[in-house]
Amino acid sequence: MKDQKAKVKYIFVTGGVVSSLGKGIASASIGLLLKKRGLKVNLQKLDPYINVDPGTMNPFQHGEVFVLDDGAETDLDLGHYERFIDESLTRDNNLTSGQIYDAVIARERRGDYLGSTVQVIPHITNEIKERIRKVGERDGEVDVVITEIGGTVGDIESLPFLESIRQMGLEDGPRDTLFIHLTLVPYIDSAGEVKTKPTQHSVKELREIGIQPSMLLCRTVQPLTKQIKEKIGLFCNVPSQAVIQAIDVGCIYEVPGLFHEEGLDSLIIDHLDLKCGELKMDDWNQMVHRIENPKHHVRIAICGKYTHLKDAYKSITEAFVHAGVENDARVELKWVDAEEISSENAEENLGDVDGVLIPGGFGERGIEGKIEAVRYVRENKIPYLGICLGMQCAVIEFARNVCRMEKANSYEFDQETPYPVIHLMPDQEKITDMGGTMRLGAYPCILEKGSSAYKAYGEVNVSERHRHRYEFYNKFRDELTKAGLKLTGLSPDGRLVEMVELEGHPWFVAVQFHPELKSRPTKAHPLFRDLVKAGLRLRKSKKSTPSEEKESVKN
Ligand code: GLN
Repeated sequence: MKDQKAKVKYIFVTGGVVSSLGKGIASASIGLLLKKRGLKVNLQKLDPYINVDPGTMNPFQHGEVFVLDDGAETDLDLGHYERFIDESLTRDNNLTSGQIYDAVIARERRGDYLGSTVQVIPHITNEIKERIRKVGERDGEVDVVITEIGGTVGDIESLPFLESIRQMGLEDGPRDTLFIHLTLVPYIDSAGEVKTKPTQHSVKELREIGIQPSMLLCRTVQPLTKQIKEKIGLFCNVPSQAVIQAIDVGCIYEVPGLFHEEGLDSLIIDHLDLKCGELKMDDWNQMVHRIENPKHHVRIAICGKYTHLKDAYKSITEAFVHAGVENDARVELKWVDAEEISSENAEENLGDVDGVLIPGGFGERGIEGKIEAVRYVRENKIPYLGICLGMQCAVIEFARNVCRMEKANSYEFDQETPYPVIHLMPDQEKITDMGGTMRLGAYPCILEKGSSAYKAYGEVNVSERHRHRYEFYNKFRDELTKAGLKLTGLSPDGRLVEMVELEGHPWFVAVQFHPELKSRPTKAHPLFRDLVKAGLRLRKSKKSTPSEEKESVKN
């Protein structure tokens, strides 16, 4: 039993030199290591932008929006957190400057600060500290909170966050707080050596605002020698054994193991005086081993709009890694720009794949190409998983090409269509605000026994996360089902169509929700797993044809 009075410890992860060093993966890896030593962890991301949440941002600005069970639209790092620690998080786990200012200004208007000038210090910083402490406050349920500060040290935007964690360090003391700084140690080709100066500058910048990191995670392409670690330690005022090498890896799930080899978990445990057991992560190590040593190979196409921006489909690409693990296969992803697909070239684009996925999306661009892709997989019996917009496209394609409903479309793209087979959800009609107003978060869904979906999940009652405004229009239910469209997943009251499948197709499942958000490395999502399985079956059947080129599993 945990001592009720044991203090919650706070680890703060900051980043320096450049962005995109993998602070999210580093924080998630620390979370995993502590959890696998028996500690209860919680992870939180602080984002410095003024948007209340990333839901209104373009994927080009932000990458994927990760939706939680409670409907919060959050940063994609929350996806890494959930996948690494295998726990579902809540809206408290992602905080933005917008939320902080929104709350403080609302309080000011209510008169809560009557008489005071409302300022960044202390009002904004107090609000930030309160929200950081809140995630540690589930009594007895949290030993360690890991809070990642978005942005790069030196940015104006993140200063209030840094000031708040500095104050927390002072309030709680060095035994209960820990500052970890992630930096870059670049390798300069012409000099043939790594350079420590950017790290020195970054730590200097942190020290100027009163934060002395106790550990450094140094991103590098080259292993760091003892001498380099000593040099970094000396200039940054950190013991050299707390200078941790964070070497580039092929697979993000290798990171926790490599951090452990560098002694990171023991250092954290000593610093924070944590009582815990030995590291037990055999399941994780097996998963990594399987990713690295697949027996089979399968090629799946993703037909989307943001194919040049892989971060827009982060959870989908990860879900395929997980599905590969369970099928002992390397899942090669072929990115196909939906705008490039037409009836003339569908074969050229999709003829060499074993499965197709159409992800979620908004707006008309690429829609016709996606509909052509669905036609191709329906007619050629290629395994298909449609997600959200990918389900809507499947319904439109079926209406147009099987039911001969000419110009059938979603009301989102064509308000004049005679066959709006996808329509605005009734409770969306009066909504004018764009932020946080879609159908968001987890909803139950009832599956039809005998369907491919039921076979995948192995149960009738499932819960999945949603993010959409439009849905299958019930007016067309009869006509479409009579023609062979199967509604295999419905909301408990039977009103909302959450899943469709096709009669006579080996594996065609299209869903109104986002299964990718619930896939975990050691627990692949059943639909991704079965799409890959169906793809492998198709590939095997094609193998008997002599024209099939021999491919190495690891190309
Ligand atoms: N644009 C569609 C809707 O709002 C699909 C959304 C999605 O794919 N996430 O319903």
